[in-house]
Amino acid sequence: MSYVDEVYANLAAKNAGEPEFLQAVREVLDSLRPIIDANEELYRSQGLLERLVEPDRQIKFRVPWVDDNGNVQVNIGYRIEFNNAIGPYKGGLRFHPSVYAGIIKFLGFEQIFKNSLTGLPIGGKGGSDFDPKGKSDREVMAFCQSFMSELYKYIGADIDVPAGDIGVGGREIGYMFGMYKKLTGRYEGVLTGKGLSYGGSLARTEATGYGVLYITEELLKDHGMDIAGKTIAVSGAGNVAIYAIEKAQQLGAKPVTCSDSTGWIYDPEGIDVALLKEVKEVKRARLTEYAAARPSAQYHEGKGVWTVKCDIALPCATQNELDLDDAKALVAGGVKAVCEGANMPTTLEATKYLQDNGVLFIPGKASNAGGVATSALEMSQNSERLSWSFEEVDQKLQNIMKNIYKEISSAAKRYGHEGDYVVGANIAGFEKVADAMLAQGIC
Ligand code: NDP
Repeated sequence: MSYVDEVYANLAAKNAGEPEFLQAVREVLDSLRPIIDANEELYRSQGLLERLVEPDRQIKFRVPWVDDNGNVQVNIGYRIEFNNAIGPYKGGLRFHPSVYAGIIKFLGFEQIFKNSLTGLPIGGKGGSDFDPKGKSDREVMAFCQSFMSELYKYIGADIDVPAGDIGVGGREIGYMFGMYKKLTGRYEGVLTGKGLSYGGSLARTEATGYGVLYITEELLKDHGMDIAGKTIAVSGAGNVAIYAIEKAQQLGAKPVTCSDSTGWIYDPEGIDVALLKEVKEVKRARLTEYAAARPSAQYHEGKGVWTVKCDIALPCATQNELDLDDAKALVAGGVKAVCEGANMPTTLEATKYLQDNGVLFIPGKASNAGGVATSALEMSQNSERLSWSFEEVDQKLQNIMKNIYKEISSAAKRYGHEGDYVVGANIAGFEKVADAMLAQGIC
């Protein structure tokens, strides 16, 4: 049995109840085969893969809080610190009812390679099965304060720096930062995605979505295409999707869809991003409100974004939202490129089908790395007690995304897989982490 298959089989036996985590590891290890085969003896002797797939630590805790009716609610909190070989742990917090250890482990594992690709610090992830939807501001604050009253023991500006993810935006980061400061007495860059009045970075809100478009533009250019004039299907209507849509329009493309967990919009005139922000960011309402205010928009229940004919598809909602049937529909509709805004939104079978049919495909760990990259820029500004202009941060973000594209395409070429950006992203991300782990000994 090959080293990869042996490590995967042992992991699968121990983590059978965590399919998302196993899926992420499978995808990474399979595409690392060229580099692992070339260095098998060294990696085996150092137990490198066994150490890579096991988190440094997994923290699971009780989060009690009192709702508006005076009842005690109890949620579960998680922080999984995966690997700090090249810098402090860094990764988002997700508040969503589907959260359990397997989701946080898959996100943390992916984060190792993503962070490495940015050339910045490295991987952890956390969250809770708490659902902020339908909760009052006071309830969200009570939850966030209780969550932080445990988490603060494990994080710090040079230890582990959480950020936002699904269900965690500026409001939640603000409540958690306030509590961290109260408990520790320290004012430090311990969280990113903060408000501008207390250490946040300009362009952090926009960074993930904008970054997806910067790398998409680079990919198309490299293949002799222009993003201007292209029709784009986007899923999601949250932080990543909104700013992907905004930047797509600024680059002259036409995004025609968005979605949330109950339905989706097809707007052939192009999504009205100001209206979408009003509905989702200000009112925190459903997409039916968008349709009601926009005569050109059609609202459909359930999922269906990928049935729309488009040149480019940007899945920006959640894991495994683009399956084999969706991939077939996209190929039939003539899609040329798929760049992931969300983490692991495309199933393994769908990714293979897209690649086998000549669709250019960039995995999330490369294409959505603009968020964590800008979080790292926020950390730099906090350490220096400086704040940079929007243009400065945006320029750095553009350079980082261009660089990531260069790195993943050259790594793919070096190992004989030109144009396979899954292989390229995993190898380029892995190389640096592996070097650091080998240099630091077995620990
Ligand atoms: P948000 O919470 O802002 O938005 C998530 C969007 O996806 C919402 O429209 C939500 O709909 C929809 N969604 C969530 N769960 C489901 C589901 N099970 N089925 C269908 N739709 C769903 O999150 P973000 O935009 O921040 O994150 C989106 C993705 O991008 C995630 O995979 C995240 O890990 C990834 N990511 C985010 C980064 C960031 O900087 N924010 C950085 C890198 C990756 P509804 O409103 O109905 O819940």
